[in-house]
Amino acid sequence: MSRRKNLKACRRVVIKIGTSTLTYSNGQLNLQRIERLVRELADLHNRGMEVLLVSSGAIGVGATRMGYKKIPRTMPEKQALAAIGQGALVQLYEKLFSEYNKTVAQVLLTRGDLDERLRYLNATNALLAILELGVIPIINENDTVVVEEIKFGDNDTLSALVASIVDADLLIILSDVDGLYDSDPRVNKEAQLQAEVDEITPMMEENSKNRGSSFASGGMLTKLNAARICMAAGIPMIIANGDSDNIIRRVMDGKEIGTLFIPREEKMQARKKWIAFGTLPQGQVLVDAGAEVALLQKGKSLLPSGVITVEGDFDRGTVVAVANADDKREIARGMVNYSSDEIRLIAGKKSSEIEKILQGKDYDEVIHRNNLWVEY
Ligand code: GLU
Repeated sequence: MSRRKNLKACRRVVIKIGTSTLTYSNGQLNLQRIERLVRELADLHNRGMEVLLVSSGAIGVGATRMGYKKIPRTMPEKQALAAIGQGALVQLYEKLFSEYNKTVAQVLLTRGDLDERLRYLNATNALLAILELGVIPIINENDTVVVEEIKFGDNDTLSALVASIVDADLLIILSDVDGLYDSDPRVNKEAQLQAEVDEITPMMEENSKNRGSSFASGGMLTKLNAARICMAAGIPMIIANGDSDNIIRRVMDGKEIGTLFIPREEKMQARKKWIAFGTLPQGQVLVDAGAEVALLQKGKSLLPSGVITVEGDFDRGTVVAVANADDKREIARGMVNYSSDEIRLIAGKKSSEIEKILQGKDYDEVIHRNNLWVEY
């Protein structure tokens, strides 16, 4: 209960609205619901909070406008529809928010914008500058130009990354369900809503594997992924039903609704956030069981002696995944002190041998603890 009460103190809030909340099942915009949510967000802003809206719907709105019955499969069609729908969507938000005297700003991101440290900081600064101006950013993936390899793919993940980069106090994901259930409520009438979750279990993921409506792309699995990011970043996240009256106000007032994902106590260091979530790993360092224990249980750096081999080609300073060599399970992410070619040469060797093998030594570690993220 007290955890919910803490929500009253939140100042910077990210709200994600999914396609299934914005539209009817036939794909047409649910204007009444959108108006209600915009009014609530404007009211939060009036209370003195900083509000960031992550809104889906570009592809869905574009598809409906062009007479599609469901989302097409091919990338160029989706890209074209996103361009059509995004404009229409933002125009609607602009109109509705201006009724409450609020200014909005469209922000379109791609995964590539977060991939390099400099671009990540650049995106962060842009969002913070918008907030500083008292403006409400309306954020979506830049679906028109994004290609498959660098897609966030879903706005649940995008909203968690946005919450993480602006260091938000709370992420609210509004959906067409009341929250996370212990089994699928559409199948099992006895399914129980989980009020609080402090650990995401494989069972929860298994239960969440079906997709949402034909116009939406998420479902519960991507929400759990978002929760994982928020929990690690130290940000509480709530899934609640966007159809309920005054839902945002009631969540912010600490009412027991939806599912609250409880974060780890401390907030994550900014640099580690980028290593963990900002960038996509460019290769893999495969390690032995001893190194796994040293990293996960003893808080140690990754030394060459624990490395079995490397997959991929990368330079010094790249963020890579660290995986167990036997089962390829990813156990950590970190920024490497040596290139893939160099690591291949020093794998399995003692740190004292590095100098001789590479004809010089800048570091003892393959990945220093400070550049390592292990909390999955
Ligand atoms: N970016 C997509 C869109 O605007 C939505 C992705 C999602 O629904 O998660 O259509």
